[in-house]
Amino acid sequence: MSVAVQSKKDISRLEDYLEAIYNLNEEKGYVSAADISERLAVKPPTVSNMVRNLADKGYLDHTKYRGMRLTPLGEKIARSVIKRHKVISELITMLGVDNQTAYIDTEGIEHHVHPSTLRRFEKLAEYLRGNPQTLKAIREFMEE
Ligand code: ZN
Repeated sequence: MSVAVQSKKDISRLEDYLEAIYNLNEEKGYVSAADISERLAVKPPTVSNMVRNLADKGYLDHTKYRGMRLTPLGEKIARSVIKRHKVISELITMLGVDNQTAYIDTEGIEHHVHPSTLRRFEKLAEYLRGNPQTLKAIREFMEE
């Protein structure tokens, strides 16, 4: 009975935390519960519970005075989410979606995109990057 099946929503939430912790650590060199609370717009007690939960499940190490660090498992998942985030964000921004909408949509799509779809997004972004005339034509068509 110890292996709990995680719902899609639980996985999204887990990925959001690991992504935020990884990014905050890159930006600041350490991560506090207050930082996570601010980044994810979640109340501090909720963050404390989740951090304990992530530590219990082996995604991060948490010591009271040294903050928290992702374990290799936590880091692996964080990198995967961040990769998805980067690809989706780049592609939809190229297509002319404004930055704020691109951010909100990327945060949603990144949890649900299938690897094969992501690969296609990545290839498309790569193609458009290398073919600015085509990108320009697409953008003009979209803005008609
Ligand atoms: Zn993201």
